[in-house]
Amino acid sequence: MRPRKQRRVGHRPASNYFKPRGVPMRELMEVRITVDELEAIRLADLLGLSHEEAGEQMAVSRATFGRIVGKARKTVADALVHGKALMVEGGPVAMEPGLERRRFSCRACGGHWDEPFGTGRPQACPSCGDEEIFRHKDENSGENLP
Ligand SMILES: [Zn+2]
Repeated sequence: MRPRKQRRVGHRPASNYFKPRGVPMRELMEVRITVDELEAIRLADLLGLSHEEAGEQMAVSRATFGRIVGKARKTVADALVHGKALMVEGGPVAMEPGLERRRFSCRACGGHWDEPFGTGRPQACPSCGDEEIFRHKDENSGENLP
């Protein structure tokens, strides 16, 4: 894969999985948008920025922004129209300072999870309740994206 320039993201996704109610897992189709694509929808559709302004915020050209938001809208429309689950993950993104994810892991069960900033250090693993937990240091490397 050719290296791509990182796109600046100014908002942490509130959720990274959206699932239609009442669809059995085995029948559920899944589509994915990347974190930068969600940011494009936030800037263009929620905040109403022009492609020019939004591209500046994300550190990409107007044309690139147009492609990102076009692909994002198409994927979201596919999920809504066809009742597919929508996941938000990955992408060549650089979170703005203070928005880096805080990823924790549990030594006991090996599980890992994310905590938002400003909530303090978790006391125990949400899966098994063990207190032997640690925070990942390289949380900005793409490998730790979900
Ligand atoms: Zn655990």
